[in-house]
Amino acid sequence: MLTDLTIAQAAEGLRKKEFSAVELTKAHTDAVEALNGRVNAYITVTSDQALEAARKADSTLAAGGAPALTGIPLGIKDVFCTNGVRTTAASKIIGNFVPPYESTVTAKLLENGAIFLGKTNLDEFAMGSGNLTSAFGGVENPWHRKDDASVLVPGGSSGGSAAAVAAHMAMGATGTDTGGSIRQPAAYCGIVGLKPTYGRCSRWGTIAFASSLDQAGPMTRSVEDAAIMLSAMAGHDPKDSTCSTEAVPDYRAACGRSLKGLRVGIPAEYRAPGMSEEILAVWQRGIDMLREAGCEIVDVSLPHTKYGLATYYIIAPAECSSNLARYDGVRFGERAEGATSLDDLYEKTRHNGFGEEVRRRILMGTYVLSAGYYDAYYLKAQKVRTLIQRDFTQAFEKVDVLLTPTAPTAAFARDEKPEDPVQMYLNDIFTVPASMAGQPAMSVPVALDNKGLPLGLQLIGKHFDEETIIAVGSALEKTAGFTARPDLRAGVSA
Ligand code: GLN
Repeated sequence: MLTDLTIAQAAEGLRKKEFSAVELTKAHTDAVEALNGRVNAYITVTSDQALEAARKADSTLAAGGAPALTGIPLGIKDVFCTNGVRTTAASKIIGNFVPPYESTVTAKLLENGAIFLGKTNLDEFAMGSGNLTSAFGGVENPWHRKDDASVLVPGGSSGGSAAAVAAHMAMGATGTDTGGSIRQPAAYCGIVGLKPTYGRCSRWGTIAFASSLDQAGPMTRSVEDAAIMLSAMAGHDPKDSTCSTEAVPDYRAACGRSLKGLRVGIPAEYRAPGMSEEILAVWQRGIDMLREAGCEIVDVSLPHTKYGLATYYIIAPAECSSNLARYDGVRFGERAEGATSLDDLYEKTRHNGFGEEVRRRILMGTYVLSAGYYDAYYLKAQKVRTLIQRDFTQAFEKVDVLLTPTAPTAAFARDEKPEDPVQMYLNDIFTVPASMAGQPAMSVPVALDNKGLPLGLQLIGKHFDEETIIAVGSALEKTAGFTARPDLRAGVSA
């Protein structure tokens, strides 16, 4: 089946004329049509545009010299502005926004020949870990526990992208990661998710959550595919002053590189209390696999890890409260009816337009930035962030890459959602520190737990050394031989 192929395989098949871009795209638009009613991975489906683009891709391929992603159908997280295609951030407040421009990342993918199947679902404004806060409804994880029909969450916030890729409703997808939103849903859905170094991909045209943390990256079914997508997405952009000018390597070339002599750090602090034995066992298996591949395993310490979550949940809401101030009912999005004054207009618009979690974060952020609390919370958090960054710098003097679990649990059921929002925030415990320090990090699926759900391991690299995490990730992927597939996917009736 065409939907079973990886991006690398499909790119080869297209060039060998085994099938056309139209056929490949049609197989995916059919899969989206068949499954989206249940999975709800896409907020907006653009099948007609996709097929139109596929016809053009076939001409480009026929002419020869087509770029890597020509004719490859992808899902795009609904925070990337796409010219003429509704972009909602899964929020009511901009639920009808049609951008008149293209984000840099999606423009680069289009230049590389990619085809967009639609805009994928997420937690509202990318705030969340379970895809439970979307104004367009939750996403169903295509995986289920053995002998248990409970609907599981796909993780968040890029849960629509992760579910689409896992259910073979896209060959790959873009995600954004502020504190774990690419890696955690990748782990929950049994796929690969790569958060590049902060500044590797341009943020221009991507709806902002927390600007000092937000980073776009690929979500795919293989490490090689993530490498192919990242090469197309990354690169300097004068429109984003935090976007790096470093040259973009051919990431794919790093796959299969020898790991002999590579030093892999195992941070003691990631052995969180109460962590499941199964996750610890999978982590140990990963360590053993890398040792066998010729790596030297080194114990390291990241002593400020324990402050990661607390500081993240000050800094991210602070930045979000500032970024989301623009949605005031005047220039963007939905405007409340019947306001009697300007303040009333702001209040009504923002109350009606934002969901509960977004409102909570705006309130927290406004509080920690307010006079009198700024020093006690925001400034203090910035200082702790520097200490977290220093931990990584010191660890990377001794090792080339770090190996940790991606998340403290496997996917949980929708109705097991914790009532206490702080419990929900614990999902990010292993992903947040790398975000705070701007390190590149990737989740690779390695095993199933005893209930049949995927578990992922996280590789964290040095700044702008995505190549090492890709090299180690592809070795881990090969040795782990993770071939399990979810029961709900294109071509399979569940
Ligand atoms: N789950 C985290 C949060 O809710 C991370 C979200 C993200 O990375 N966008 O903030």
